[in-house]
Amino acid sequence: MDDKEPLLLRFTVALVLMSVAVYAFWLYQADQTADDAGVNQQIVNSESSTKQEAIVAAFYEVDHASVAQTEEPPEITGDEEADERIREIAVQRGYRLQLQADEADLVEVDERRVLEEVRNSWEEMQKAALEDGVELILARGYVSIEEQRGDFLDALYERGVEQTGREYTTAQIQGGTADTAINATLRRHAIPGYSKHHSGLVVDIIDSSEDDFRGSAAYEWLRSDSFANAAEFGFIPSFPEDSPQQGMNPRAEEFVWVGADRAEELRQ
Ligand SMILES: [Zn+2]
Repeated sequence: MDDKEPLLLRFTVALVLMSVAVYAFWLYQADQTADDAGVNQQIVNSESSTKQEAIVAAFYEVDHASVAQTEEPPEITGDEEADERIREIAVQRGYRLQLQADEADLVEVDERRVLEEVRNSWEEMQKAALEDGVELILARGYVSIEEQRGDFLDALYERGVEQTGREYTTAQIQGGTADTAINATLRRHAIPGYSKHHSGLVVDIIDSSEDDFRGSAAYEWLRSDSFANAAEFGFIPSFPEDSPQQGMNPRAEEFVWVGADRAEELRQ
C-alpha cells in the first residue's frame, strides 16, 4: 500500500491550518498594537452581552419607509479582487452592510442632513439640553456612499504614504501587503456601504469644549441615568459599553435614533 499520498495530504492540511492560524494571530496582533490607546475589547459575560446586543440590534429593527438594507456592497477601489480583500478584513472586524436612506427624504439641520423624524427629535433634544445649560453640536449626520468611499480611501492613502512613502497599489492590496494598513484604517473609517451614517438615523454629537467626549458635559447629560435624556428623544448609544465588536473602534459620540418608545423600552 502506497502511503505517500495520505501523508502528503496530511502535510498540506497541516500547512493550510498553520497559515490560517498565523494569519489570524497576525491580524489580532496588528489590532492589539493599535495606536488608539485606551480602547480595549472587553470580555463580556453572556448576560450583559444579551442586553447590549439588543441595543445594537434595535437600530436594524427601525421600521422606516425611507430606509432599506443595502444588498450589494458598493465598490471601494474599483478593482474587484482588491475590494473583496478589503471587505473580508472589514467583516472580520465586525462591519456589516448597512441601512441606506433614500436621499430624497433627507432634510437639513445644522448644515447636516438626516431624516425628518431625526431632525425633529434632534432639535427638541438640543433645546432641552440648552435649558439645562448644556450645549449639543451635531458633528455628523447622513454620509453618502461616495463620501464614505473618499473618506476611507483618503485615510488608506495617508497610511500608505506614512508606511511606504507612497499609495498602496491594487496589486499590493490584492496580495495582502496592505492588510495591516487596511485593518488599522478600519479602526476609524468604514468602507462605503458599511457606515451607519448611510441610514440618516445616526448623529455624532460633540460640544465646543476641547475635552474628550466621554469627559464632556454633553456626554454626561446624555448618559446620566442610563441615557435617560437621550432616550426621551429617541436616541440610544451606537456603541453601548461592552457591546460586541461592530467594526470600528467604539465611539461614544455616536447615537442612533430608534424612536422614544423603543429607546425607553431598552432602558428598562
Ligand atoms: Zn459616527
